[in-house]
Amino acid sequence: MLIDNHNRKINYLRLAVTDRCNLRCNYCMPSEGIDFSQNEKLFTIGELSKLSEIIVSQGIDKIRITGGEPFFRKDLMVLLRKLSKMEGLEEISVTTNATLIGPHIDELKALGITNINVSLDAINRDTFEKITRQDQYDTVHNNILRLITEGFKVRINFIALDGQNTEDILPMLNLTKHYDVSVRYLEEMPFNGGSRKFESIAWDYKRILAYIKEAYPNYEKLPSEETSTSINYKIPGFKGTFGVIPSFSRTFCGSCNRLRITATGDVITCLYAQPCMNIRDILRSDNSEEEVKKQILKAVGNRSKTGFEAQQEYKGIFAKSMTSIGG
Ligand code: SAM
Ligand code: SF4
Repeated sequence: MLIDNHNRKINYLRLAVTDRCNLRCNYCMPSEGIDFSQNEKLFTIGELSKLSEIIVSQGIDKIRITGGEPFFRKDLMVLLRKLSKMEGLEEISVTTNATLIGPHIDELKALGITNINVSLDAINRDTFEKITRQDQYDTVHNNILRLITEGFKVRINFIALDGQNTEDILPMLNLTKHYDVSVRYLEEMPFNGGSRKFESIAWDYKRILAYIKEAYPNYEKLPSEETSTSINYKIPGFKGTFGVIPSFSRTFCGSCNRLRITATGDVITCLYAQPCMNIRDILRSDNSEEEVKKQILKAVGNRSKTGFEAQQEYKGIFAKSMTSIGG
């Protein structure tokens, strides 16, 4: 079992499989993209599988596949097939923009990979296209509806962006009236690869909640898992639920159970921290298993207590893009 230096159990790995993406969300990266990694710097599927196996043997029982856009990687399903058979791994989930998932929905269901987080920041077509800078609205909406009707556990991540999409907060919430889906409103974070200025957030979770309360004063708080980053609610009579994620306010650090590994092998123990090491070459060397285990233990043993503490130590975060961190 992995326990960090603040006595928190670490059982959840966010594993990025690529830093590339077919969208260009303006809160994530500039329109021209970022300096994407060369192919040889990215883990192969075999390496991702081996790395997962080692870390699962250390006590990780939940892996979220992220990116960049995970389905941008043509061999992603090979990894998911391997993970779905991995002993000790209890939960596999994927975070996706839902543009490329369509052809894989049947197989995902057959593999039992049914926890899918979809990033969708607009109900309105123009708003969607302005934010993502791509014309993928119909594909995304069709795929989300397919996932919901096929019985997947769908969570929609919506980042509240001042002056861009806040008019869509309530229409998005309306989805939970008709569908058993969870809409989670996130605070924007300063990882946009230089796409735009970031000084502070206008819409923190309290403002989002107050705005929703004006329309639905009788929403009810739901119990949440201790390690949950979202605070969850339900509107009486609605099929689904909604939540807020204080990703910038960072109220949840005390129960953080996460470790992040990027597609190029950087190990990140807090979103707001500098990578503490790179594990790719260690994994590629002889006797890699023992050394990887040692390095993971070292990383887990040196975590900042909070995101604020991590940020103080690392001033360069504003240059990073979420596409290379994995969210
Ligand atoms: N491409 C996939 C997607 O968009 O779902 C997975 C990778 S994306 C980097 C992972 C998550 O990070 C998404 O939910 C996205 O909305 C979120 N994200 C990206 N940039 C962000 C930012 N600046 N602030 C907050 N969340 C961000
Ligand atoms: Fe791509 Fe996801 Fe970043 Fe949007 S948020 S540009 S979909 S990686």
